[in-house]
Amino acid sequence: KNVTGEIVLITGAGSGIGRLMALKFARLGATLVLWDISVEGNKETARLARKNGAARVHNYTCDCSKRQEVYQVADQVKKEVGDVSILINNAGIVTGKKFLDSPDAMIQKSMEVNTMAHFWTAKAFVPAMVASNHGHVVTISSAAGLVGVTGLADYCASKFAVVGFAESLAIEMLALGKTGVKSTIVCPFFINTGMFDGCQTKWPRFLPVMDPDYAVERIVSGILRNQVYVYIPRSITLLIALKGLIPTKVG
Ligand code: NAD
Repeated sequence: KNVTGEIVLITGAGSGIGRLMALKFARLGATLVLWDISVEGNKETARLARKNGAARVHNYTCDCSKRQEVYQVADQVKKEVGDVSILINNAGIVTGKKFLDSPDAMIQKSMEVNTMAHFWTAKAFVPAMVASNHGHVVTISSAAGLVGVTGLADYCASKFAVVGFAESLAIEMLALGKTGVKSTIVCPFFINTGMFDGCQTKWPRFLPVMDPDYAVERIVSGILRNQVYVYIPRSITLLIALKGLIPTKVG
């Protein structure tokens, strides 16, 4: 698919899945707008993206959980780069503590980064998408946005919430609004990035972990085909089914 005319914003572009998605879109010829709270990580992604052929890469430091900061940086992007046509809400955090061990501030932070940030970026960029009748909002949720997991109560809650947000947006924008603005949900299982290194809860070793390059290849091709991407390994689906907890949305 040709994305050369697209301006793609990726939050949390400074490492892991965000960085690999940036490199993939760089190879496809998109203009990149990279956001991360980490200055160094984001600079490194920009450098790698240029090396991978991106003609236009713009990196911004932004804590996307902070509403005013999102609006300010978004204004800067609109002036310096133009209207974002593909918004990928990818920034996320996980602490992996059992619920009763989770400090209040940590729970609040999970909700701010993993959920509220999606609202602020969408508020900033979707109006221009609607005006031009062209745009795409991509929500990086998680398999933990579909089923509850031990040690991930705050994470699961924050990831469930954005599934609801993305579905509602899809209905408002495309199905009812007929605006030409798409909303895609991505729900991956474990991917071998740094994300789960600091987690205190240890999950069973038999859980399959995906190679990040392979995962991102599938995620980006799913995004470009506007497919809801859910990756739950069969072994896990079976376990969930055995427990009588199979969620309605697995597919
Ligand atoms: P990662 O930790 O490698 O990358 C997350 C990035 O987000 C980092 O660069 C970090 O600096 C940035 N970030 C954190 N807080 C931020 C903030 N407030 N503002 C801006 N940037 C911020 O993790 P990853 O594995 O690449 O995860 C990317 C996304 O994929 C997350 O939303 C995560 O929940 C989701 N996900 C990951 C997995 C997995 O197994 N790795 C599975 C399912 C879903």
